[in-house]
Amino acid sequence: MTTTFVFHELYLWHDTGHAALLFPPGLTVQPGEHAENPETKRRMKNLLEVSGITDHLSLVKPRRATEDELARIHTRAHIERIREMSASGGGEASALTPFGPGSYEIAQLAAGGAIVAMDAVLSGGAPNAYALIRPPGHHALADLGMGFCLFANAAVAIEHARAMHGVGRVAVVDWDVHHGNGTQAAFYSDPDVLTLSIHQDNLFPANSGALDERGEGPGQGYNLNVPLPPGCGNGAYLEVMRRIVVPALERFRPDLIVVACGFDASGADPLGRMMVSSEGFRAMTEVLAEAADRLCGGRIVMTHEGGYSASYVPYCGLAVLEALSGVRTGIDDPFEPVIAGYGQQALQPHQADAIAAAEGLLAGIK
Ligand SMILES: [Zn+2]
Repeated sequence: MTTTFVFHELYLWHDTGHAALLFPPGLTVQPGEHAENPETKRRMKNLLEVSGITDHLSLVKPRRATEDELARIHTRAHIERIREMSASGGGEASALTPFGPGSYEIAQLAAGGAIVAMDAVLSGGAPNAYALIRPPGHHALADLGMGFCLFANAAVAIEHARAMHGVGRVAVVDWDVHHGNGTQAAFYSDPDVLTLSIHQDNLFPANSGALDERGEGPGQGYNLNVPLPPGCGNGAYLEVMRRIVVPALERFRPDLIVVACGFDASGADPLGRMMVSSEGFRAMTEVLAEAADRLCGGRIVMTHEGGYSASYVPYCGLAVLEALSGVRTGIDDPFEPVIAGYGQQALQPHQADAIAAAEGLLAGIK
């Protein structure tokens, strides 16, 4: 059994326009490249190809998620609004979330990519899966697209898994540098879906992702936020994996682990201020894979989220795919010595304090 890999060329045709990173052009903002442009994902796909790892993966084509599948998470009004705007040439799902013609269908294909990755793992055909999909999903709310996300890909796939595969408990580990607010909101009152987000403190969305957002009603205790100070590197992230993520998974005992896999905590990202290297992402994946082997038959489904360094994300992505598949391609990451050599890569005392503050959340998982 090999790792399943989901991709479609149309993911790269989702058009976010000519912003200056985030901001729409105007008389005082020169048109430039939107941060969430196709190049990062295209180059990741290309490096996977050139490295040879693609030959060792089971390549699966996505399908478009149906409106009913999207509606397990989203309101019909939201789905219809995105569909109409897309059909009339595009628009903005909300501030800073532009999209072009055809983006409705491409976003359906992204959510459907997460669904087929889920199917591959839950049917027993693959031990784990990676969906390299676009647009991303973890910021999208039931009735609103935001943060470059139109539909909540991972959440839609989780509801598919519960409805169609009878999956009981799902744990979501979100290591995108931004708070996974959409996934949190989707399952905030649900004790059967543990949502755990590791993110830079108060980065995006504003005032979102604090320690005290712990779930509500029967879901109380089943949402964990680990807000970290800027400047965390491999040492801090691995400490979070060891001291928060693994113990949380051991307490929760999921049937399946879903990873909202952003690479914007890398040391080269224009939107995040963290310092994780490709070896850091490899090590985090290995920790997770070991926990998954012990707890849920190795079942991991990763959905691609953010990550905006077109030069660096490919090496981070390759490291994660190597760790998931157990295949080593021998490709060296030329950035590794640079980023791993940054000062304060090891766990710093103030970072340990932030992690210790989140440890108290574990007791909420019954
Ligand atoms: Zn992000």
